[in-house]
Amino acid sequence: MKVHLRVFVEVENLGKAMNALADAGITGFYILEYKGMSPQDWKGFSIKEDPKSAIGLIKDYATDAVLVCSVVDEEKTDKIVESVMQALEGEKYTILEVPIRRIIVNNQDPEKERAETWLLEKEVPCFYCGENSVQRIRIDMNKAKIWCTNCGAARYYLIKGVEKEGS
Ligand SMILES: [Zn+2]
Repeated sequence: MKVHLRVFVEVENLGKAMNALADAGITGFYILEYKGMSPQDWKGFSIKEDPKSAIGLIKDYATDAVLVCSVVDEEKTDKIVESVMQALEGEKYTILEVPIRRIIVNNQDPEKERAETWLLEKEVPCFYCGENSVQRIRIDMNKAKIWCTNCGAARYYLIKGVEKEGS
């Protein structure tokens, strides 16, 4: 399973947290800036519910903080968290580990689409010219094209029963 690792730190500790995450081997991350109030600061507060008061309270009392998020393998999570805890010893931070049920990535970049097609080569007798020559095989999602580098004859196949990850 994958885990959404969320590390809440104060702005001045962002560098430390990032270095610890990178050292522990995370491959990607994103950062959100936010205004935060810890439960201790919040305790006993009661605010007027009009938006002006609420926003005023946030401006006056909330501290600037940063949330560093990363998606990591469950098995690697403990090591990464330990690394962050060590780096931020004595500092104020919160770490959340949220299990991820599913990841859906939509990619409309045609360059990246192309990079996902597989190209294989195999030297076998051609179905058309009969020569023992390199047959190129390209697999595009659920379609396969096989063509002969000797005579240029091509065949197409539909690959049935393709399973997408997670289904
Ligand atoms: Zn051929």
